[in-house]
Amino acid sequence: MTVLISGGTVIGPTGSSAMDVLIDGERIAALLEPGSTRLGSDLAATAERVIDATGKYVIPGGVDCHTHMELPFGGTYASDTFETGTRAAAWGGTTTIVDFAVQRTGERVQDGLAAWHAKAEGQCAIDYGFHQIIGGVDDDALKAMDELVAEGITSFKLFMAYPGVLYSDDGQILRAMQTAAANGAMVMMHAENGIAIDVLVHQALSRGETAPVNHGLTRPWETEEEAVHRAIMLARLTGAPLYIVHMSAKQGVATLQAHRDQGLNVFGETCPQYLYLSLEEHLAAPGFEGAKWVCSTPVRAAAEGHQHELWKYLRTNDLSVVSTDHCPFCMKEQKELGVGDFSKIPNGIGSVEHRMDLLFQGVVDGRISKERWVELCSTTPARMFGLHGRKGVIAPGADADVVVYDPKGHTSIGYGKTHHMNMDHSPWEGFEIDGHVDTVLSRGAVVIDGGEYLGSKGHGRYLKRGLSQYLL
Ligand SMILES: [Zn+2]
Ligand SMILES: [Zn+2]
Repeated sequence: MTVLISGGTVIGPTGSSAMDVLIDGERIAALLEPGSTRLGSDLAATAERVIDATGKYVIPGGVDCHTHMELPFGGTYASDTFETGTRAAAWGGTTTIVDFAVQRTGERVQDGLAAWHAKAEGQCAIDYGFHQIIGGVDDDALKAMDELVAEGITSFKLFMAYPGVLYSDDGQILRAMQTAAANGAMVMMHAENGIAIDVLVHQALSRGETAPVNHGLTRPWETEEEAVHRAIMLARLTGAPLYIVHMSAKQGVATLQAHRDQGLNVFGETCPQYLYLSLEEHLAAPGFEGAKWVCSTPVRAAAEGHQHELWKYLRTNDLSVVSTDHCPFCMKEQKELGVGDFSKIPNGIGSVEHRMDLLFQGVVDGRISKERWVELCSTTPARMFGLHGRKGVIAPGADADVVVYDPKGHTSIGYGKTHHMNMDHSPWEGFEIDGHVDTVLSRGAVVIDGGEYLGSKGHGRYLKRGLSQYLL
């Protein structure tokens, strides 16, 4: 099938230009000057399908490199399956996810990975890859890291939080980083001092402070900044590249910035919730409502000025990627596990559907350029995790993952409005976006078209990734 997307403005990280995009089968075949006759006198007449993108943006499909479909957490499971979660992603213009296979303390790495392949295989609407969480660093796990790199799993997430479940101590982190430095893999870090946090949580509960807001109050910025610094020092010591996930404290990013300025391969990611939501307005909502916004790291106090600073760091590239950390839970029977004890609220927010729109609002609001929008949401995550050339760019030879985005459109986010994630509420209720995802193609197949879902489960393929293409 040949598709011609004509009349639009193609946006990449280095600029925007009026170009027609010719797709042949699953790949992009050519970029052409509008009305070019070089491939035939009337391409529009010979293409099997023509998509009119006049007045619209043509962007590479979103790459969300941080999702948790069906993640077991706190006695329950993240409520999106690979089927429902990737379908919601497609609705929002995301055409690739990289999810986290999990090894918990005491389990075999390969067993965790096999379980994730089994969950995803034949279920996805869009392409998917995996990072591997190493929750129990030992000799076997270190050996497994080498094996997995050869299988296209080239990034490993470690936790400085969640003692007894996923936590690594400093010696374990050091050994995993030494292994990554040798095999070329990226180390991803959940940087929060979980040992200190657990004490603060216990103390708050014993004072009778049980409401959701205490989730944020017991994870103050110092616990993030301290872990960020420690992780960077261990990375520096070992020579491993380091990617710090879901950064929310401005002080943590300032520390990251200082070490990036020294030329280290250390990178930061943030998520829409840290740019838009706050402790005061969301986590401290009346009654148990705040549970909707319990995630780790926590959404932080607007009075401390984090949100504004994080936008700045997106512009300076001290934060290089915006992912979602999509980890949805329903209120009923899931978040409700924490009524009367905030520490039992499953940690996570669902956003996989809304990232492209939420960040486009940053373009409309003058916080980032439209080129930076594409870079943060598509191009850099693909390069960071070894998918450059296939994903994150509109270029000949790349997979035809393309979104036609209407900058003059409108999207009302909310349950019962735009909502395809498997949740009984929207953490983004009431957000109004000055833009709209019109058409989405995944490897040349139209999956979203004019408000209709045309995709199918099983279309999405497993992506064997290469090593990071973003290192200094
Ligand atoms: Zn995390
Ligand atoms: Zn996560």
